Amino acid sequence: MKNENLISMNKQLKIALVAHDNRKADMVEWAVFNADMLSRHKLICTGTTGSLIQKAFEEKGVDADITCMNSGPLGGDAEIAALVVRKQINLAVFLIDDLNAQPHEADIQMLLRQCRIHNVPIACNRYSADLMITSTLWDKEDYLPTEPVYRKYNR
Ligand code: PGA
Repeated sequence: MKNENLISMNKQLKIALVAHDNRKADMVEWAVFNADMLSRHKLICTGTTGSLIQKAFEEKGVDADITCMNSGPLGGDAEIAALVVRKQINLAVFLIDDLNAQPHEADIQMLLRQCRIHNVPIACNRYSADLMITSTLWDKEDYLPTEPVYRKYNR
């Protein structure tokens, strides 16, 4: 199946894609469904997630710009978090396995935290990801995302 309902987007985004083992099938299915859209952007993935998406795209004849970092447990999430800090990621899709403990929990929390701090939209389920990749705000020149402001709470 493929997504026929996409609103076309002019801006080229740098999209981070990360999925834990139990969520990889979900990620690959989502990526293939949205392959037309995703192939117009730069995809930055953790190692195994990226190679599975690459393989699925090749099977469908989809040519995409995919960069694979280290595997997540070996530092891939941390590498992507560093790109978030450097403002080199526009959007992240992070399909977390919430039912099993991960050896790299610290890195997972770091990626989530840096996305929050640096105001990077991060989708942790496919529904959120669909909403984010179809947003018309990406192309709006007059839309400026409001940055989080950290103030000390005074009563
Ligand atoms: P992987 O990493 O794509 O290399 O499996 C994902 C993760 O576990 O964070």
